[in-house]
Amino acid sequence: MNTAALVVLILTGSSDLPHHHWDQTTPILREWFNARVIEEPSRLRPGDLKGVDAVIVNYHGPRWGEQAERALEDYVRGGGALLAFHQSSYGPFFGMVQLEGKWRTGPTRGWEAWSRMIGAHWEPEKIGHARRTRFQVEWREGSPAFEADDELYHRLTLHEGVKVLAEALSPKDLGGTGEREPLIWTNAYGQGRVWFTTLGHDPRAFLQPGMREAFSRGLQWAARKE
Ligand SMILES: [Zn+2]
Repeated sequence: MNTAALVVLILTGSSDLPHHHWDQTTPILREWFNARVIEEPSRLRPGDLKGVDAVIVNYHGPRWGEQAERALEDYVRGGGALLAFHQSSYGPFFGMVQLEGKWRTGPTRGWEAWSRMIGAHWEPEKIGHARRTRFQVEWREGSPAFEADDELYHRLTLHEGVKVLAEALSPKDLGGTGEREPLIWTNAYGQGRVWFTTLGHDPRAFLQPGMREAFSRGLQWAARKE
């Protein structure tokens, strides 16, 4: 599986500490894909995306402002590749605000194109996951399952047109739903291809061997280099 020839850009620089540490997971992704890193995504401009085969967003934090957000939207809509994961599925991008330590619907709708791009949103009252554990991630099309050591997010709302690639049984005895929850999916946004996984809590989650392969496959698919 060769991703070395791809030009990959990581947009990062903020996460909801102490839950998620962008500065610990970004180096892993950077090394996997020999990626360039931008730690101030609000400064993103269309020129930064010229010749980029795929963008990975490792981010949770304040919105980026109209110019940067539109630059990414235009890139994806025009046929670019976007990959994102885990903590990018809730928070300020979705108009949520924190109230007494819990996410709530805020006064604005957030970055609506972000939700459309990743093909999902999370109702604030449904945000949660089973206690961290090891579990099997099963591919719907039948590839061998891989073991995750991660948080198993549950009760996300996926949008019409999303294609679920992998899922896992959420353990009820660990605070999960007892249902099969989607973990990896793809979506289309304009001409662009988007790949999202709810996996990726921390370096330990990333260093599961199956995780790297899943990300690499997603990258090749999204960048049309299969
Ligand atoms: Zn987490």
